[in-house]
Amino acid sequence: MALRNNINSADTQPVHAKDLLDWYRQNARSMPWRVPPDDHAMGVRTNPYHVWLSEVMLQQTQVATVREYFIRFINRWPNVYTLAEADEEDILKEWAGLGYYSRARNLKKCADIVAESHNGRFPDTAAKLKKLPGIGDYTSASIAAIAFDEPIAVIDGNVERVMARLFRIEIPFPDAKAETRQLLETILDPKLPGEFAQAMMDLGATICTAKRPSCKICPLQDHCEARANGDILDFPRKSLKKSKPTRKGAAFILERPDGAILLQKRGDKGMLAGMSQIPTTNWNSRQDGETGKSAAPVSAEWKNMGTVRHTFTHFHLELEVWYAHVENATKHDGWWSSRKDIDGEALPTLMRKVIALGLNQCLK
Ligand code: SF4
Repeated sequence: MALRNNINSADTQPVHAKDLLDWYRQNARSMPWRVPPDDHAMGVRTNPYHVWLSEVMLQQTQVATVREYFIRFINRWPNVYTLAEADEEDILKEWAGLGYYSRARNLKKCADIVAESHNGRFPDTAAKLKKLPGIGDYTSASIAAIAFDEPIAVIDGNVERVMARLFRIEIPFPDAKAETRQLLETILDPKLPGEFAQAMMDLGATICTAKRPSCKICPLQDHCEARANGDILDFPRKSLKKSKPTRKGAAFILERPDGAILLQKRGDKGMLAGMSQIPTTNWNSRQDGETGKSAAPVSAEWKNMGTVRHTFTHFHLELEVWYAHVENATKHDGWWSSRKDIDGEALPTLMRKVIALGLNQCLK
């Protein structure tokens, strides 16, 4: 795994970086928050607000999904000041469906701080960025490299995989992080750290994929130790996975004669904090909630509509869905949301699945 002859003596650009960046100039993925390599070479700089917003959205979410949300956010809140002025409730509504809702709340907190304490400018180093809410090791490095050209290692899941194969890193992730960072710092291009970071991400996403890497067209094939050794698919090394527990609970759809359904707001802390929900029992990652119609918040003619299954980071959830029609419904915690307003509510994906199951079954 020793680094061999890493510097291209002609121009002192590390050889991995030269091959990678030549490839990136031709093959960069087009994304609405990016500056294409040719424009970057002409001096166009990436908007830090765009990088920050996209990187927060990309934590735990696929690029294809993020594109559409990113464009909606930028159209509605074109800079950090407008986002800082927005209501958290509106941000949560726009975020609905992206999951991991603490990201949306931190987005608002971070925008407030940047607008009020930094004159609307994001700090320009990873160390300073990391002090802001919702910005950890990866996101701070990514913003610092892409928006401010800080020569720093940016390691997402794709980059982990590429590096594990390039250097046959024997340690599984996350323990391999320090070694990966050290190696990455030796091969990145300190003059073009943002381009290098994005090129590595693209290589992992399109060429050095998890199951079928396309080594024959890989710009790093001549440097790749796993390819030379013929054991590409043995890397990254896998750690033994802990199995996730399955939690249970119940959700109760109450519908009025005009089709409106009862929604409530979840508490300010814990899972899906601040989001809207169908009334549900008290499940969380550590405990089951009650099940059965006896757990319903009001007495009514409850019908069982089936079960929704959903997987969170640390557990699976099986939620029984119950439905009741009420003629006279005035005294309930929460609010009645009409069918036309439901789409605009801050409902997480789990609750949208509950509503789809409950209401579709009703129409049968
Ligand atoms: Fe990945 Fe193959 Fe390229 Fe090595 S040669 S970095 S395994 S795609």
